[in-house]
Amino acid sequence: MKLPIYLDHHSTTPVDSRVLDAMFPYFRDEFGNAASRTHVFGWKAEAAVEAARERVAVAIHGSPVEIVFTSGATESNNLAIKGVVDANAAKGNHVVTAATEHPSVLDVCRRLERERKIELTVLPVDSMGRIELAAVRAAIGPRTVLVTLMLANNEIGTIHPIAEVGRITKAAGVLLHCDATQAVGKIPVDVQAMGIDLLSLTAHKLYGPKGIGALWLRRKNPRVRIAPQIDGGGHERGLRSGTLNVPGIVGFGRAVEIAIEGMDEERRRVRGLRDRLHRALASAIEGMTLNGSPDDGLDGNLNVSVAGVQAESLVIRLKDVAVSTGSACASASGGPSHVLRAIGVADDLVHASIRFGIGRFNTEEEIDYAAKRVVEEVQLLRETAPCSDEADARSSRRS
Ligand SMILES: *Cc1c(COP(=O)(O)O)cnc(C)c1O
Repeated sequence: MKLPIYLDHHSTTPVDSRVLDAMFPYFRDEFGNAASRTHVFGWKAEAAVEAARERVAVAIHGSPVEIVFTSGATESNNLAIKGVVDANAAKGNHVVTAATEHPSVLDVCRRLERERKIELTVLPVDSMGRIELAAVRAAIGPRTVLVTLMLANNEIGTIHPIAEVGRITKAAGVLLHCDATQAVGKIPVDVQAMGIDLLSLTAHKLYGPKGIGALWLRRKNPRVRIAPQIDGGGHERGLRSGTLNVPGIVGFGRAVEIAIEGMDEERRRVRGLRDRLHRALASAIEGMTLNGSPDDGLDGNLNVSVAGVQAESLVIRLKDVAVSTGSACASASGGPSHVLRAIGVADDLVHASIRFGIGRFNTEEEIDYAAKRVVEEVQLLRETAPCSDEADARSSRRS
């Protein structure tokens, strides 16, 4: 077993060696610009890009002409939301989202609210992070142009009923954008069955490279129109200019292909490891509570609060086990998790929360070791905590 152990797969995933093998030639021999039309270097690069485009499209039941390659899901979310708002100004200016969305959705919406005076509805969620379908229906009005809801949550693993939301948006004639970053390759995603109109995804959450993602845009029933946010050479049908990241795109295509092929088996295995970790922690740590609902959430997600323990201190002491407090994205900006707050977790427990993300290459041995280390450090922190109940109890026993 190699240390440290990586249990933070919602932040990013290691590149699968099969993905790296597929990418390698496109750094060295096949270095052409996919937009070069006059020589074989360009043609080969373009052929590789188109093969990857097909793989990404097929994985979500879309068609290749509907894929726009971007630098990742953050850019895809920006392009989708700003692009739809800009292109539909004549129709309306109301956007509906939910409190537990990723910052690359929520911060975009808030900027549009401040700077372009859109009307924004942020739907609340229940204690499991679930939205209410009736609330979605009620939020949609004559000026609504977009509903944007994620498929799977990156902190607590909650899966939204997107197919049901899709029926509501279709009936209302409103576009549905879905940030499916945590879902593609982990659970079945079908833009047709789910009634999605725009979908964001990224390679580095599914064992592909960082810095490459895509926005899928429906071309028929309805044809989705967006305003480009980056102008230049007119790449990607004019929707996202800039020389294509050929090795990244090739890796993205291969990563998606591998994830879809092995999904059923991997889901069972990852879920087994997650449940094993949960059992080991729950049996040894008193006062541990679950955030989210592992049984019907993402297979690899386990988010817990450990009463009386500062998560910051815990993750720093866990030098040989890589986990995250709350959300890595939220902690980049220093704030406490907006997701845990939205599901009603009390402030002290928000600061006591740890997120485990189990992935493709984790083993039982690693899970057992990680559980043992977490239990040890929790006990140590509780013994030294100046004002924990346990410490109080001990000192009163002593006196
Ligand atoms: C990681 C993540 C993103 C951002 O993706 P990048 O490719 O890193 O920009 C967006 N949404 C969700 C739900 C994520 O988990």
